Amino acid sequence: MQRIFLTLIAFCVTCTCFSQTQKNKYSLVLENASIVNVTTGKITYKRLLAISGDTIKVIADTKKVRQYKADRYIDLANKYVLPGFWDMHVHFRGGDGLIQANKDLLPLFLSYGITTVRECGGDMTPSVMNWSKQITEGTLAGPRIFTSGPKIDGPKSTWAGSLEVETPEQVTKALDSLQKIDADFVKIYESKISREAFLETITQAEKRGMKTSGHMPYTVKLKEAVDRGLDASEHLFYIFKACSAKEDSITNAVIQSEHTAKPIGLFAALPSLYDTYDAKTADRLFKYLGRKRFSIVPTLFISKTLGEIKERDHSTDKLIPYIEPKIQTTYAGRVNSAKRQSNEFTAFSKKYALKANSLIPQMHLRGINIMAGSDCGAYNPYVYPGESLHEEVKLLVATGLTPLQALQSATINGAKFMGVNDFYGSLGKEKSSDLIVLDTNPLNNIQAIDQINMVVSNGRAYSRTELDKLLNSIKH
Ligand SMILES: [Zn+2]
Repeated sequence: MQRIFLTLIAFCVTCTCFSQTQKNKYSLVLENASIVNVTTGKITYKRLLAISGDTIKVIADTKKVRQYKADRYIDLANKYVLPGFWDMHVHFRGGDGLIQANKDLLPLFLSYGITTVRECGGDMTPSVMNWSKQITEGTLAGPRIFTSGPKIDGPKSTWAGSLEVETPEQVTKALDSLQKIDADFVKIYESKISREAFLETITQAEKRGMKTSGHMPYTVKLKEAVDRGLDASEHLFYIFKACSAKEDSITNAVIQSEHTAKPIGLFAALPSLYDTYDAKTADRLFKYLGRKRFSIVPTLFISKTLGEIKERDHSTDKLIPYIEPKIQTTYAGRVNSAKRQSNEFTAFSKKYALKANSLIPQMHLRGINIMAGSDCGAYNPYVYPGESLHEEVKLLVATGLTPLQALQSATINGAKFMGVNDFYGSLGKEKSSDLIVLDTNPLNNIQAIDQINMVVSNGRAYSRTELDKLLNSIKH
């Protein structure tokens, strides 16, 4: 047996070119592709990608296609190939009665080219873990899932399923439980958590090497949290707070008010933060966060959607039929509270969003890792899985990021945050075959991301027709 093996090696050495290409059979060969390098912005034309399962094995000149045997060949002449999109802020939630409805959202992500999601806390972790396993094994169609498991918050937390912490011992127990289920990061929510428990959570997580991301109570200053190891901030409120020249006194006022009849909440503090925004303070902060390789998920689209709820009718939205009616009923809470807002507050929110959003290019310039996230999920009205991430990317371009920078926020930047960018988030030899195919060049016009021609997810290619078939399967 060994002798035959050695003879084979000798044979291979003498005719390397022929033998190397013939010995492998690939599951899929894509021909004539224009590959967009999301790191450099360069496009290479007429390329061939030979894929084996979840890995790109070869990238070569299409002329060499006859050297690569495959089960399936697809010609991508005049099409653009990019890594699959990452939505860095989604939720699966709503209680046991909505487990199937949440599972039905998975094809919606795929149909829009989202091949990975980061789930930021919910109340159906065992199901999410189960789907994640089935997706990796190839028995369920859906995006790869990174999950925080349940959120961490204080006593009487807002969201069902949260781990409630008050004392250092409770923090230890909560983090133990997250490590036990192999959570990919720690998501902290700020509705009820105290300043002390928040900082304790970050400190203990940092010691264990767990990534942390969150909302942040306004009783904490952002730098205190980042100094202790906070890795990312969801939404813009918390970074905006630290751009104020009066951050110290406003934080103290929030602390002083905490146990009074009229505690100052996030939205009550926002106007004074807006009035005391200081460009120099902001730039100093962004430089510091850039040095710390801090990440931010701005979630611009959900803010825009909630801000416009009073004036928009969503009953004829294209994607409404793909959202289980029981999930649609969870929209009422936020819709009603948006409708109750005074016109004055609505006007202020728009002014604030304009200001906060305009800071994104500068954050990027200073080295902050910008990640596209939609915040889609039950309770967040009309932010549809998939489509909302496309809208987020377009809004990032509207703030002044280049199309390339916005595409990075939806691909490689998420993979960097999760520490898996050597395999995921960009296309290359021995890298993930999760990819999307577009009809036109997204670097010229970001609207191109809406025309998804094909998706490869976990080694399986879905044509537009197959993606539409998947979508039809969840139509109500
Ligand atoms: Zn969220």
